[in-house]
Parts: sequence; structure tokens; C-alpha cells
Amino acid sequence: MSNSNPGTLFGHPKGLFLLFGTEMWERMSYYGMRGIFVLYLVAFASSFGWDMAYFGIDPTADDAEKLFNTAIQSKALGILGIYAFFVYVTPVLGGWMADNVWGQRKSIIVGGLLMMLGQFALGTPHAMIPGMETTFLWIGLILLIFGNGFFKPNISTMVGDLYTEGDKRRDAAFTIFYMGINLGSILGYLVVGTIGEKINYQYGFLVAGLGMLAGVILQLALSKKYLGNVGVEPAAKLAKTDKTASSGPLTSEERDRVKVILIMSFFTIIFWLGFEQAAGSMNLFAKYKTDLVFFGWEMPASWLQMVNPIFVIILAPIFAAMFLKMGAAEPNSPKKFSLGMFFLGLGFISMVMAALQIGDTEGAKAHVIWLVLAYLFHTMGELCLSPIGLSMVTKLAPLKYTSLLMGMWFFFSGVGNYLAAWVGQMVGETGPLQAFSGVAIMAFIAGICLWLLSDKLVDWMHGAEDSQPQNLNEKLEEELSITATHEGMSDKH
Ligand code: GLN
Repeated sequence: MSNSNPGTLFGHPKGLFLLFGTEMWERMSYYGMRGIFVLYLVAFASSFGWDMAYFGIDPTADDAEKLFNTAIQSKALGILGIYAFFVYVTPVLGGWMADNVWGQRKSIIVGGLLMMLGQFALGTPHAMIPGMETTFLWIGLILLIFGNGFFKPNISTMVGDLYTEGDKRRDAAFTIFYMGINLGSILGYLVVGTIGEKINYQYGFLVAGLGMLAGVILQLALSKKYLGNVGVEPAAKLAKTDKTASSGPLTSEERDRVKVILIMSFFTIIFWLGFEQAAGSMNLFAKYKTDLVFFGWEMPASWLQMVNPIFVIILAPIFAAMFLKMGAAEPNSPKKFSLGMFFLGLGFISMVMAALQIGDTEGAKAHVIWLVLAYLFHTMGELCLSPIGLSMVTKLAPLKYTSLLMGMWFFFSGVGNYLAAWVGQMVGETGPLQAFSGVAIMAFIAGICLWLLSDKLVDWMHGAEDSQPQNLNEKLEEELSITATHEGMSDKH
């Protein structure tokens, strides 16, 4: 049953595919920019005043050039880390705003427009803003940070809002949505990455801004038709008009469920810390330490980042079908998370192999297969954790806190992103071998801890992952019919 859509497509409410399309354009913009961001900072270092004097390097020293390159890369990764951290902190604010003031629909339009302006600020040609390059850099990043906060958690909770609790299609819906995310990132790396690296980084940002605009237009044009009233009213207001939803403090069951969301989200810090090396140290490793020349043609390093989303598109339906086929033997969400950590660890073993291949030899290049294998394992891990986590949040969160808790889910990935930059800098300092093996060990340990905790976590879910959550289902159906009456909606399924 769905509360508000005019029919189904491939067995899912049509609104899912609109959210898929909107998120696809937003992620095209987001990942396109991220794919070239550190490369842009390194290439334009002098525009931002980062010369040898800035880093206190003596230009006459023998290793001045080397020190300078390391310092710039470290600076660039530091900025990426700060950006990636705040980009996922603001979803807490954006989620709260949507739950209490704007509703999700308005939030994603505001967020989308802010992100578009942010890309345009980054893309403003330096010749037009002499002396203000750094100001425009920060204005651009701040707009992207706030924009993402209003957009990201809310588009995700709307996917969950299309389904009632206990609806078996929910996990599959998030897997489909996740394919939209990754189709967007492929487009981003392909279009923004190529324009950025082959023509001009700043044109890349401008195109990323246009992609975001496409998402906003799509949403404005079709949301009334395909989403009905989903996301129009703030959740807190709906919860108040709903007699069955508790408007007072959380019950102990609800508190347990929130606890599960927070504990599982906490573990994702370690996952994202490793996974997000993609845009940072693995991107630089690809650019400078990997053989990317094929038949005399050099592949842009940012293209390698497409390997992950391509694998997501190929593997997501296979994983979804495999989990479905397992029936009662399907691992619960904490166990899937644990598998995710294990795959992450295997990916870093592959990076260790790449590091071993180049050893200490100056100018040596690793074979690209190690990176491809690392991305394959990272993708397998991601599919066990990321769409499952989104689905879990919408399954477990009390109605009036759904977007806020979705914001928290992203907050932890922000912490992971922040630490990722720190690990990336360590790769520069201690060398890839130590840093990558350290991450692999950490991932395996986290995986084991989660596996051991899994039964307790499932207990605290109070039936949300059982096959027949009869009471909850009935309760939510009642909630939705109240909502539908309140909105003057009729239920089409
Ligand atoms: N790749 C996913 C996305 O862009 C996951 C992001 C995250 O949770 N850190 O939506």
C-alpha cells in the first residue's frame, strides 16, 4: 500500500522513480565536483596563494619540490576532508528543518538551489574575480554544505515514506534508489570529470551546477503528480494530528530502536573512513602511482572512480536477489553491516598489494587491476551497508524524528569522511603500505565486533526485521489513513 501515488512501475510506486531521477542529477553534480576537487586545488595552488613560502619550505633545499608537492596534496585533502565532513553534518539540521518546519519537499528544492549556486561559485572563472579566488572557493563550499544538508536526508526519507512498515519492497526500493545515486555519480565522473580534467576544472563545476538545476526542475515539474502529498507537511505536524503516534516522550521500544540506529550508524564511521579514500588518497594514488596509459592514451584518473558506481549498478540487483533468495537464512542488518566491513578490509588488502608492487622505487607505477579489485570489494561492502542502512533508518525511526535520524545517519558518515582525509594524509606521510594495511585491520576488527553484537541489536529492533510485524503494520496503516484523510487524499493501492 502506498499513501499517495498514481500507480506502480516494476511493482513500485511511480514516485520512487521520480526520487531516483532527482537524486541521480544531484549526485551527478556532487560526485562530479568531488571527482575533480582535489585535482583542481593542486593544479590551481598558486591562485590560492599556496606557494613554498606559504608552507615554510626553503626553495633552495634539495627536496623542496617534493616537500612542496606533499604539502599541497595534504592541504587539498585537508580541505576535501573538512568539506566532506560538513556536507554530512548539515543533514542533521536539514532533517530537523524538514521534520519540524518545511517538510521534505520544500527542503530538497531549497537544498538543490543552494547546491547549484555553490557549484556556480566554484566555477566562476578566476580571471573574473582577481584576488577573490579563495573567497569564492569557500562561498562555493559553504553553499554546497548547506544545500546538501537540506537535500540529502530528506530525499532519502521520502523513499521510505512511499512504503508502510513491514512492506517487503522497502529494501528493494532503497536498492533501486541506490542505483539512481550511482548512475548519477557515473554521469558526474564522466561528464564533469572529463570536462574538468581535459578542458578546464572550473567548466566542470559549472556543468555540475547545471546538473543540479536539472534535478530541481524535474522535481518541481513532476512531484505533484507522482508524490502526491508525501513530504509536503512536516512530520512533527503529522505526528500531532495522528492519535496513534505518541506525541509525548519516546516509549522504551522507540528508544531501543533509536539506539540501534545510532549504534549501527556509529560503526559506519570506520566503513566510510576507508571507503572514502576513493576521492582522496586512492584518487591521488591513481593519478601519480598507477599506470593509466593504454595504447599511448592516458586515462583521466577520475574515471577510475566510476568503477565503484558501475559495480553498484551491476551488483545491486544481484545482491538484492541473492538476499531475497536466502529467505529465512538472509542475514539481519547488523550481520550485513559486518560483511560490509569484511569486504572493505579485503579491498584494502588489494591496495596493500598495489603498494607492495611499487615498493620504494621512485617513479614506479602499480597495475590498475589492484585499484579495480579494491573498488570491487569496496562496492560489495557498500551494498551490504549503505542501502541497508537507509532502509533501516526509515524502518526504525519514530515518525516525528525520521528525517532527523536520517540526518544522524549521514552525520556519522561525515565523521568517517573527515577521518578519511586524515588517513589520506597519513598515506602521504607513512606511505601507502602502512596506512592501507592499518585500515584493513581496523575494518576486520569492526566487522567482528558487529557480528558479536548483532543478536542484541536485533532484539532492540523489537520486531522491525521480523517477517510479520503485524501490530506495527496495522498501526502504520492506520496512521497513513489518518494522514490521507487529513490531506484529502485517497489511497490508490
Ligand atoms: N554513496 C552514497 C551516496 O552518495 C552514500 C553516501 C554516504 O552515506 N556517505 O548517497
